[in-house]
Amino acid sequence: MEFKKLRVAVDGPSGAGKSTVAKGVAAKTGFVYVDTGALYRTVGLYMAEHGIAADDGDGIVAALPNVEIKLAYENGEQIIRLGNEPVGAKIRTEEASYYASAVSKLPPVREFLLEMQRSLARQGGVIMDGRDIGTVIMPDAEVKIFLTATPETRAQRRYREQRQKGIDVTYEEVLEAIIARDKQDSEREIAPLKPAPDSVVFYNDEYDIGECVAFVVGAMNQAALDRKTV
Ligand code: C5P
Repeated sequence: MEFKKLRVAVDGPSGAGKSTVAKGVAAKTGFVYVDTGALYRTVGLYMAEHGIAADDGDGIVAALPNVEIKLAYENGEQIIRLGNEPVGAKIRTEEASYYASAVSKLPPVREFLLEMQRSLARQGGVIMDGRDIGTVIMPDAEVKIFLTATPETRAQRRYREQRQKGIDVTYEEVLEAIIARDKQDSEREIAPLKPAPDSVVFYNDEYDIGECVAFVVGAMNQAALDRKTV
């Protein structure tokens, strides 16, 4: 298999560094990076902006047909528009995270975002991160990595990130949010967060970004070699 046609799935809990690692891999290999969490965040943002409560499942499903998401790739960067408005940093707040997790529990929301993700996967040369990429979106991906770390390591990273952005939170708040979101993501009935049976589970507590990127690129090279036809 040609290296540049590979499909790479990166799943794992929040704060594991999936997006940073996936972006690093994309920059190194020229692959397109697809951030699927941003899609759920955008659906959540729509609900928040329209006064629909995060726990109002019926209200969320009823509003879904009005959610107009457009995806574009500009200079290797994923730009999401809600209607005509780029969502930018609005999908990165704690509220948006909570909403994203809440809407993602609903089967119609997952269905709504499914085809958009699959069509990106079909092109190949893609590294996609999320929760169900290796299990549902690209079950036949050539490379599947489940990137994770302990809740404390993940909270520490997110806390530092938030503080750097000038967001006023405590470490305890971040840890509590991570634990709540893990529970919500892994206990849900549909597409729960769990490693695909054929994925490589990588605990990265002790590794920096560069090492994680090297690990994934190594797995990609190996996959291309394994599938080489002679
Ligand atoms: O990855 P990120 O933290 O941006 O994802 C936000 C939320 O969207 C997650 O907590 C998860 O509930 C949901 N999600 C999902 N499936 C994906 C990506 C994200 O359910 N493929």
